[in-house]
Amino acid sequence: MIEVIEPATEQVMAEVPEAGIDEVDAAVAAAKKAQPAWRAMAPADRAALMHRLADALGDELEALSRLEARNAGKPIANARGEIGMAVETFRYYAAGPERLTGKTIPVAGGIDMTFREPLGVIGLITPWNFPMTIASWKVAPALAAGNSVVLKPAALTPLSAIEMERIALEAGLPEGVLNVVPGPGSVCGQRLVEHPDVAKIAFTGSTEVGRSIARGAAETIKRVTLELGGKSANVVFADADLAEAAAAAPFAVFDNAGQDCCARSRILVERPAVEEFMAELEKTISAMRVGDPLDEATQMGPLISADHRDTVASFVPEDAPVAIRGSAPDGPGYWFPPTVLSPMSNDDRAAREEIFGPVAVVIPFDGEQEAVELANDTIYGLSGSVWTGDGSRALRMARAIETGVLSINSNSSVRVSTPFGGFKQSGVGRELGPDALEHYTEVKNVYYAVGEG
Ligand code: NAD
Repeated sequence: MIEVIEPATEQVMAEVPEAGIDEVDAAVAAAKKAQPAWRAMAPADRAALMHRLADALGDELEALSRLEARNAGKPIANARGEIGMAVETFRYYAAGPERLTGKTIPVAGGIDMTFREPLGVIGLITPWNFPMTIASWKVAPALAAGNSVVLKPAALTPLSAIEMERIALEAGLPEGVLNVVPGPGSVCGQRLVEHPDVAKIAFTGSTEVGRSIARGAAETIKRVTLELGGKSANVVFADADLAEAAAAAPFAVFDNAGQDCCARSRILVERPAVEEFMAELEKTISAMRVGDPLDEATQMGPLISADHRDTVASFVPEDAPVAIRGSAPDGPGYWFPPTVLSPMSNDDRAAREEIFGPVAVVIPFDGEQEAVELANDTIYGLSGSVWTGDGSRALRMARAIETGVLSINSNSSVRVSTPFGGFKQSGVGRELGPDALEHYTEVKNVYYAVGEG
């Protein structure tokens, strides 16, 4: 059994059976058996089932939000937003079965047409930070394209995925189309990567595990999409609305206690604005409510585990230049206060590695060129923001920064209908929007010789 711990209390909140290699093999076999009928189902019927699943998840939104808030330690208000996004994701991709079309291409002597075929059985491996939302980003387009799936949630947060499977069955999804195998990555995840009947792995997690998945998938030439780590820049120019940028910046790092691949954890501030920006930042951070995830007023919860808190703490040694430190409860719970280190160099460890906790660094810069150089001086390229009152500069910066997702005068990262994914070592492929649907298909080209007549 897996003991599922509630990070805000350190208490066991549930025990779930731990899958091993035999269970993964059984799940893949069930998925393989179910896929031909799922694929053959009339597109409108598949769409209707996906709408029913969206409705059913929506009906249980409050209970699912509370479960996710407790299991992942996230504020209940955020959890509602995340489960709401999962519902919207199923609804968006419910249009997929009827929207996947091919092309006809003029060629000599016949007609050439392309089809978007499902791949078969897809292995989905997800992290603990946004458990149900990220699962929905993969399950929904994979099913819409006519695939069946085996979902391996993170062992720390398996509960919402198990609920998703139950709700899908109750909503009428045929047995075997969506299978969930909670268990350790090194066993269940690796077996999915190696399994000869799995056509593709869609993975979200750390860049380190992403590398090992890419290596493992090479053996059977599996398709792979990878959503990995980040170390994104929040670039604030002196001509920006500093009060607005500083009021928003903490939530772009400390939301989900910094356990967010899109965290804009390198705050680059144009030198003349640093003093004013830091004063504004302190005001917002000192007012942040850190505590019980189930309290409606809470803005930041605990970290996911004691081990993870140790890792985060290693970035803030005794002699670290702590400029701002917010509050956090004493315990029990894996608490860590929102922390800002300043001034930092982009070469410091805290500015180079993904901390995945509530620790931001502030790095001063001089002018647009240095801002671009600093923003791009990282192995990652996932998200980021530019704050400026100059529209032309905003667009110059947007084109120059090597990143998959960028916001201007905003820190938003994900919308159901727009592509999300990384440049460089932040990943391969895109989730959400129309692009993701295509990633769960293979293009088939059919030539029909029609002769001379
Ligand atoms: P992780 O890489 O440790 O684990 C992710 C998943 O992979 C888990 O389900 C885990 O059990 C599994 N896994 C571990 N080892 C495996 C192996 N050898 N083979 C197959 N599967 C294996 O990541 P995490 O700690 O759960 O999540 C944090 C990381 O996820 C951060 O780096 C974060 O940036 C990244 N992330 C990225 C995105 C994105 O969309 N780009 C979104 C959320 C999180």
